[in-house]
Amino acid sequence: MSLLANRLKNISPSVTVSINALATEMRERGEDVISLAAGEPDFNTPSHIREKAIELIKDGNKIKYTPVPGIMALRNAIAEHFNKRYNTTYTQESVTTGVGGKGVLFNILYATLNVGDEVIIPAPYWVSYPEMVKMAQGTPVIIDTSEDNEFMMTAEELEKAISPKTKWIIFNSPSNPTGAVYTEQALKDIAEVLKKYPHVHILSDDVYEFLVYEGEFKNLLSVDSSLLERMVMCSAVSKTFAMTGWRLGYAITSNQELIKAINKIQSQLCSHTSTVSQYASLEALTSPFDFLDEFKEGYKRRRDLVLARLDKIDLLSARKPKGAFYVYINISKVIGKTTPQGKVLNTDVEICEYLLQEGKVALVPGTAFGLAPYMRLSYATADETLNKALDNVSHALDLLK
Ligand code: PMP
Ligand code: GLU
Repeated sequence: MSLLANRLKNISPSVTVSINALATEMRERGEDVISLAAGEPDFNTPSHIREKAIELIKDGNKIKYTPVPGIMALRNAIAEHFNKRYNTTYTQESVTTGVGGKGVLFNILYATLNVGDEVIIPAPYWVSYPEMVKMAQGTPVIIDTSEDNEFMMTAEELEKAISPKTKWIIFNSPSNPTGAVYTEQALKDIAEVLKKYPHVHILSDDVYEFLVYEGEFKNLLSVDSSLLERMVMCSAVSKTFAMTGWRLGYAITSNQELIKAINKIQSQLCSHTSTVSQYASLEALTSPFDFLDEFKEGYKRRRDLVLARLDKIDLLSARKPKGAFYVYINISKVIGKTTPQGKVLNTDVEICEYLLQEGKVALVPGTAFGLAPYMRLSYATADETLNKALDNVSHALDLLK
């Protein structure tokens, strides 16, 4: 009898996490590897947030257990953030916090999916969505978007994918891995379809909400307030505040039954996320966002640097991403090329392996995000690192026949 549960047979480990771990391992062995695989800001958590956490630990009075959904002041701050943006009347009771955006998304899916319930996920998608759905015994229903439509799902594609078993659509704009930001018209068209199917709930993953470089952030609620009751919006401090390691994510919904169900699960699983992280996140959300201009300017400059460099590499092409910190590079022209070792590169996985071995650059193959042949480059790193990585990629591609 196998020690491991059958339910794991169908689940893959996070490719983004594992490629980055592989690059770190190669670096520790002394290889000069550059990782553009991790979706992680290279900026430090702003100092006022770190100071707050230090103060709290030194003081020692507020680092015990908290309520399961998080401290009330933090939940109030989160509710206020949403109310300002959407003109809503959420209260702290509409909010729950958890262990990163990941932890919160998983809790929501686990709290709502029965065997066979369908979850619509536009591809390319963030690696964890389908796996989380499967872990919660649901069925992912993938919609392939097209590069010609800037990787945005169309209203028609959505409508075709909806069935009586659809419980959720997971919506992510700005998107990981493409950086696509849905236009207002695209959002309105999608909202029109959703209004015809009241049984479909909307899980809006807004984790890159503050990282939009052209236009402004909008989600389905911004364009249609009648969707409010079916919406759950999720975000996290990870990307906006460069607080990936603090592990604080949050969700807001007017559906009290759902909040209670999420809290029931969390109460048995981990009680709550770290107390220090909760207070640090409160500081983050309630202090001026002065640092954000510097972060955004840095990301935008690097995006433009990467696009300019890619433009000069014949075998690669990419759309201009409007948000997040990823470029989704089309590598169809590399398919079928032969390496100096005589190996024919047939898939984006093989191309990324080649670029790691030959060019010492770690990138994530599009296959991991459900749309091939592409590779994702994260530009949340220093300009000189990006330049060196692209020199290496360009050189490795020049060696192909
Ligand atoms: N959603 C998306 C689209 C992401 O890219 C990430 C980054 N890992 C998350 C959610 C989760 O973020 P975290 O768990 O680090 O807060
Ligand atoms: N979200 C980031 C990424 O896509 C971090 C790794 C992960 O959690 O998947 O690379």
